[in-house]
Amino acid sequence: MSDRIFNFNAGPSALPLDVLKKVQEDLLNYKGEGLSVMEMSHRSKTFDGIIKDAERLMKEVMNIPEGYKVIFFQGGATLQFAAIPLNLLPNDKKADYVNTGSWAKKAIQEAQKLEKSINVIASSEDENFSYIPYDIKINPDAEYVHITSNNTIAGTQWASFPETGNVPLIADMSSDINCRKIDVSKFALIYAGAQKNMGPSGVTAVIIREDLLEKSPANIPSMVSYKIIGGKDSLYNTPPTFGIYVVKLVLEWIQNMGGVEEMEKINRKKADLLYNAIDNSDYYRGTVKEDSRSIMNVTFRLPSEDLEKKFIAESLEKGMIGLKGHRSVGGCRASIYNAVPMEALEALVKFMAEFEKNNG
Ligand SMILES: *Cc1c(COP(=O)(O)O)cnc(C)c1O
Repeated sequence: MSDRIFNFNAGPSALPLDVLKKVQEDLLNYKGEGLSVMEMSHRSKTFDGIIKDAERLMKEVMNIPEGYKVIFFQGGATLQFAAIPLNLLPNDKKADYVNTGSWAKKAIQEAQKLEKSINVIASSEDENFSYIPYDIKINPDAEYVHITSNNTIAGTQWASFPETGNVPLIADMSSDINCRKIDVSKFALIYAGAQKNMGPSGVTAVIIREDLLEKSPANIPSMVSYKIIGGKDSLYNTPPTFGIYVVKLVLEWIQNMGGVEEMEKINRKKADLLYNAIDNSDYYRGTVKEDSRSIMNVTFRLPSEDLEKKFIAESLEKGMIGLKGHRSVGGCRASIYNAVPMEALEALVKFMAEFEKNNG
């Protein structure tokens, strides 16, 4: 596998090599059935086993308590930006949102487009989204509070989650689901597009407290209705079968690695290695306040934009992809999701030291 490159892409992003090998092994003839998962009916007994396994594994890996349902949607996390207010925010009620970056902003805008009433209760836009506004004041009569647990573009992550009392907490965890241990019981709803930390694009997992399923109004499209899609166990129409199968394999892989506790340990080691390299240099500069640093997306700058261009071009030659920052912010970003191995980080910090020496 020496021809595989070090993948720092933000999403779609690296998948565990073991998972890819398993996919390859299963591809032409899934468990002796003579066909691939892509080619079988979503109503077949075999696929039913796959989707039930995926749901069970989500519950095991995340330690989801009783009373929650796991639903697989299409439409990405972006569809959930609309689905959440459509299902959970009646027109005469308000919801609180925290604006911590581009994705949070899109969630807010999508709700506003639906003419829902939104309070932006905190924002870090004043400082280019370089910090998490931990100190938030929640409106006690809000229908829910929406946060983005990890800000993929800005490189920030909530280190601890806000206490919201009786107000349901909703989190977009697209880029950090299963990167660390969390207490699911603090959340009313968690959603995540799979293509960052959990599988291929095309599948979005929604973990929802079951009592909320009853809130979906009858007059919203079926494809966004938690009540309808959840009520049919994600099989209301043809689900993204292949993606769900790969998600199942990724969850099995996490379990085999020792679960999210073990993932978190490795992730923190990986992130420490990179942040230390940045902190110990006057050449590289982190863009994020220390208490808000993401262990999934590490953002940094070089002394000039020209040097950043050169750095990214040379990194490609060294077999590293994806180090260019998001087009909206520039700079550099290394996305170091669960599937990115320690060796990739070692290669990156070695390259950074060499580059500094040659261009300092
Ligand atoms: C990538 C991303 C999204 C958008 O996901 P899609 O699946 O492309 O709709 C939303 N939120 C966060 C935090 C993301 O990282």
